[in-house]
Amino acid sequence: MRNKTRTRLAVTVCVLGAIGLAVFLRRPVDYRSDQFLMDTLVSIRVYGRGAGKLRKAVSEAYAEMRRIADLTGRFPLAGSAGHAASDVCRINDMAGIGPVRVDPDVITMLELSRKHHARTRGAFDVTIGPVMDLWGFGGKHPHVPGDEELKSSLAMVGDAHMHLNRKDRTVYLDKPGMRLDLGAVAKGYATEKAIQVLKRNGIEKAIIDAGGTIRVIGTHARGVPWRVGIKKPGSTEDILAVLSLQDSAAATSAGYYRYFDSGRRRFHHILNPGTGYPAMENESVTVVAGDAGLADVLSTALFVLKPEEALEIVNKLTGVEAVLVTSDGRILYSEGLADRVEVTSGERRHHGEGR
Ligand code: AMP
Ligand code: MG
Repeated sequence: MRNKTRTRLAVTVCVLGAIGLAVFLRRPVDYRSDQFLMDTLVSIRVYGRGAGKLRKAVSEAYAEMRRIADLTGRFPLAGSAGHAASDVCRINDMAGIGPVRVDPDVITMLELSRKHHARTRGAFDVTIGPVMDLWGFGGKHPHVPGDEELKSSLAMVGDAHMHLNRKDRTVYLDKPGMRLDLGAVAKGYATEKAIQVLKRNGIEKAIIDAGGTIRVIGTHARGVPWRVGIKKPGSTEDILAVLSLQDSAAATSAGYYRYFDSGRRRFHHILNPGTGYPAMENESVTVVAGDAGLADVLSTALFVLKPEEALEIVNKLTGVEAVLVTSDGRILYSEGLADRVEVTSGERRHHGEGR
C-alpha cells in the first residue's frame, strides 16, 4: 500500500514536471539576430512560441534579403561569382549592347522606381549610377567633380533610356556607359520580402531594422505598438520625434548617412538628377507606409524635392505619411501623422506649418 502511494506520487510529479517543461518550452520567447548586409547592419527580432521555429524563420528571412542584395549589388569585382550573380552588374555591363534577362524581383523594383520617377517629375532616377560613381560615393575617395565631367555623366542618366519588358523579363539601358544604382530601393524591397518570409513562417510579432528602414509585424511583445525614433539631424543621439508603428514600415533618407567634407562644405549621397549635385532642400525625410519597399523609394524621392512639393505628394497618397526636417530647420508633418507622433524636442508642427 505504501509502495503504491509512493509510485502514484512519483508518477504525478513526473507528469507535472513534463507539463511544466512543455509549458516552459512553449512560452513566448524573444529571438534576435544581426547580420551585415547591403552595407549596413540588419537586425531581425521576432517574438513567439518555439525557439526552433523562430530561428528557422529568421534564417530564411536573411537568406531572402541576401538574395535581393546579391541581385542588386553594384560593386563585386568583374569576373567574380558575385558579379555574375548580380542582375544590376549584368544590366550595366550590357548598356548600349542589348537586353538582359533578370529576376522578376528586379523588374518589380524597376517598375516601382519608374512610377516614382514620374510621380516626382524626375527627382527620383535609378539611372543615376554614372553620377554616383563620378562623385565616388561607393568608394574610398569621394570628391567634388568638375563641371565638364559632371555634364558628360549627366548625359548618361535618364529613365527614358531604360527599357523594361515584364513579359520577357528583360532590361535594356540603351546608351553605352549608363548604369543602374538601386541603392535607394533595394534595402526596403529586401526588407519587405523578408517580412513576407517571416509571415509565411507564422511569425506574428517582429521588427526588422535595416539601417534607416524599419518594418514591423504586429505589436511589441507587451502588446503595445513598436516605437521608432527619428534622429535629430546633426546629433548622434538626440531623438526628434517618436513614431508608433504597427504592421507598417518607416524609412529615413538623410544626408548624414553617407557624406564627405570638402573645403567648408559637406556633400552627401542623395543627388538631384537635374544638377548632379547633392539635393539641398532637406536634412532628413522619414516616410511611413504599409510596405517597406514603398517607404524606402519615397523617402529618397521626397528628399530630393522641395518640402512643400514633397508634402503635396504625400498628402494625396492613402496610407502614406511623412516627417520632413528641412534644411532651413523646419519640422513638417503630413496631414495624417499629427496624432501618431510624439515630439521629444522642439515645438510640435502640423500639416506643413512653418517655424
Ligand atoms: P536612401 O538611403 O534610401 O535614401 O538611398 C540613397 C541612395 O540612393 C544613394 O546612396 C544612391 O545609391 C541612390 N540615389 C542617390 N540619388 C538618387 C536619386 N536622385 N534617385 C534615385 N536614387 C538615388
Ligand atoms: Mg530610399
